[in-house]
Amino acid sequence: MNNICILKELKDSCHSKKWLILLSLSITVLVCTTSSKVVAASNFQPDNITPHEPFRINSQEISDKLLLADKNRRDDPQVYQQLLFELSQVTDSFTVEQRYYYQFLQGYLATYRGEYDLAENLFTEILASSANNLIRFRANYTLINVAAAKKDWSDGLRHIALNKEMLSLIHDEEHYQVSILTAMMFYNQIQQYNLVLNEVALIKRESLSLQHNCFVEQLSLEARMNLQQIKPDDKSIDTALNICMNAENKVYTNIIRVYRANLYLKAHEASKALTSLLPHYDEINATLYPMLTVRMHNILANSYFKIDNLHNAKKYALEAVKTNKYIDAFQNTDSYRLLYLIAKQEKKIDLALSYHEKFSESETERLKGERSKYLAFQLAELQTFDHESQITLLNEKNNFLATEHALANTKVANIQQIITVMTFIIIMLTLGGARLWRSHKRVKALSEHDELTGIYNRRHFAQIAMSTLKYCKSAEQDLSLIMFDLDNFKKINDTFGHICGDWALKETIRVCENIGRKNDIFARLGGEEFCILLPSCNIDAAVLRAEACRAAIENTITEESGNNFAITASFGITDVTRSGFDLEKLLTDADFAAYESKHAGRNRLTVFEPKEDENGEPLDNSWSVVS
Ligand code: GH3
Ligand code: MG
Ligand code: MG
Repeated sequence: MNNICILKELKDSCHSKKWLILLSLSITVLVCTTSSKVVAASNFQPDNITPHEPFRINSQEISDKLLLADKNRRDDPQVYQQLLFELSQVTDSFTVEQRYYYQFLQGYLATYRGEYDLAENLFTEILASSANNLIRFRANYTLINVAAAKKDWSDGLRHIALNKEMLSLIHDEEHYQVSILTAMMFYNQIQQYNLVLNEVALIKRESLSLQHNCFVEQLSLEARMNLQQIKPDDKSIDTALNICMNAENKVYTNIIRVYRANLYLKAHEASKALTSLLPHYDEINATLYPMLTVRMHNILANSYFKIDNLHNAKKYALEAVKTNKYIDAFQNTDSYRLLYLIAKQEKKIDLALSYHEKFSESETERLKGERSKYLAFQLAELQTFDHESQITLLNEKNNFLATEHALANTKVANIQQIITVMTFIIIMLTLGGARLWRSHKRVKALSEHDELTGIYNRRHFAQIAMSTLKYCKSAEQDLSLIMFDLDNFKKINDTFGHICGDWALKETIRVCENIGRKNDIFARLGGEEFCILLPSCNIDAAVLRAEACRAAIENTITEESGNNFAITASFGITDVTRSGFDLEKLLTDADFAAYESKHAGRNRLTVFEPKEDENGEPLDNSWSVVS
């Protein structure tokens, strides 16, 4: 169950087109519940515009009207459309910025009306234009919703990637947060639940309004529930419920109630599922949010079935099917499966067969949908990583889906047999996939880490350091680099042997890692030469950190190795104000400083100081946005 808009007074007799519009509202207008006002669907008549006399208008008035329309975008669709109509009469007087703003609002209206192709064209044009960053940003994240409505998952992922790139340019707190919430909803829809949780961690650092807090809680619960990380009595469900009740967000509050009931059902506590849900039955129906009401009816039906109340089970399953006519194949699968089981139990063979056929049909639909989501995600992943093992995984998953698809089509009379076969395939593929994934992880770990010490190797360090530098530059963060080389290490090898030398290398890393921060990037550059990249750390903090390492190395107790000897190291330190944001220069300068420590007698620190008369390339040490 995903995004929500509160819709009032929806008639049961709605035809499919209207459902689609409502669905689009719910997908597009994540933010519509930020207002306590509700959209009265029956009052919303897109073409009911009051014509106005043509009027003269100055630029400030146009800007004010655009802003007012934007403000009413979700609170009052009728006022919104009226304002857009008025603006359409004066487009000749628009400045370039006003034109793009107006185009954005038009795109939003098109989304509202379910005219996704039109919306997509309008937003895409804005995105490619020279409009200001905020409007381009808004166009882009609304395109994530349009993609979700069109079930164009690849496109959605593309816009999420773009959203991430644009985030650093955006200072508008509200839109910044809504864009992340939009990505979270999208990830939930394509079942990438771990990605949802990553975003939760990110957005919780922001100061969130009550409504946003409620969205985050609900989206996070949905992900955790699907990852099976949560039990029905979990305290976090109560917390989420309280937050959404405080925000007076009835839809989200009830979604959470439905989640809990579903968890009870899965935990074989059918009567708890019923007692937790039934008191809210009318309230949930009153939301008229189909995803929610269908889900509730399915849970009630399944719970009654579990306690052998076939009468109620049938009643609620039929209710679910009735409401779900145009919405969600997945939920139909659930209802028809149950109706099939009930008819079978009642020995109504013809009816059972007909429900079974419907189950097969909706199951095929569902699988098709699942496959397109999965493929889109894989495609996006492959575009980024292009790992061979992932291609193999993808092929395996495709085979699996093709088999499932074929099975769903064969209409084999004995459904139990299908379930057994499918379960077997799932288990086999999950095991195979897990094995492949494990070996992929092993190979990856080997290629990124130094075998002896376990810290990053030089090649991988370079990759990570480049992106860290880019991040620190755009986020206007400090960054320092410490490099160190063990003193007279050859002598340790020569005197006590290579094995003892290896022990000294490992021990050095162990003592240094103990005093580091979690996000320090520690690497072995070669032989007995190491470095630590310290994001968000200025030179003074880096000097303290280097001194702590120097002292820890000097104080290493070496008896454990079977020999008694001293280990020391010489350090060189620099930062971006001295060496700029160029990795090679940072490394060269830190190395130079480390050599100065050697020459000055070893076992000490030197901070790199640039020579004043250096007339090489200008230093790239300004904090600025990385393009
Ligand atoms: P300095 O204080 O000037 O750095 O002197 P040093 O002896 O440490 O420097 P040098 O570069 O002469 O010697 C480094 C030695 O480190 C030589 C090499 O055999 C040894 N070494 C490099 N990698 C390893 C390793 O993985 N294990 C062991 N045991 N020794 C290694
Ligand atoms: Mg050395
Ligand atoms: Mg050396």
